[in-house]
Amino acid sequence: MADEVVWSGGKLVHAKVTDKVNAKIEKGALTVAHALVLHQTGAATAASSFSSYDKGENGAHFLIDTDGTLYQTARIDQKCWHVGKVRSRCMEMKSCTPEELKVANAILFKKGESYNVRIDNLYQHEAAKSYPDRFPLNEDSLGIEIVGSFDAKAQTYAAVTKDQNEALTWLVDVLTVKLALGSGDVFTHGAIGYKQPTEASTAQWTKP
Ligand SMILES: [Zn+2]
Repeated sequence: MADEVVWSGGKLVHAKVTDKVNAKIEKGALTVAHALVLHQTGAATAASSFSSYDKGENGAHFLIDTDGTLYQTARIDQKCWHVGKVRSRCMEMKSCTPEELKVANAILFKKGESYNVRIDNLYQHEAAKSYPDRFPLNEDSLGIEIVGSFDAKAQTYAAVTKDQNEALTWLVDVLTVKLALGSGDVFTHGAIGYKQPTEASTAQWTKP
């Protein structure tokens, strides 16, 4: 279990955590966090993420460097843009009701519309549901970035390191207590979005 931690103003205060909170990636109040979404950065260094955060676009709440150094990059009571469009959860889990499957298929395979428009429409349809009927969104989740490069030729992310998995396990434990997460509330971005399925696929943590 996680040892004693202190939360102050949305920040995790602990010797294991380095404060690198950057207000530029904070996008307004986050009133509830039901889930964690694990990412990989697509770059080999933490510095690359820090400089991208200075531009004020996408970001997440925590960043784990290759040596396991854990940074907090946004306060947990603030939204970050880290999830983007999600897939239909019941389609992925093969748990849609027959009516819902009909509706989702009609959106996803609508003739005469581009793929991007169709997946955006399906995302809008999902976003109208509440968690956990859909995958988590920026509006109700925290993001954890794991530094790791992407091999464009092999179309795979670097394996998450042992040090990173140890830091991740500690952080997931702490956030599980803080957010009262359940065993199904930690997701990898690769499993819920439309990007690379290998994103964070080698991450290991202890299920809440
Ligand atoms: Zn991601």
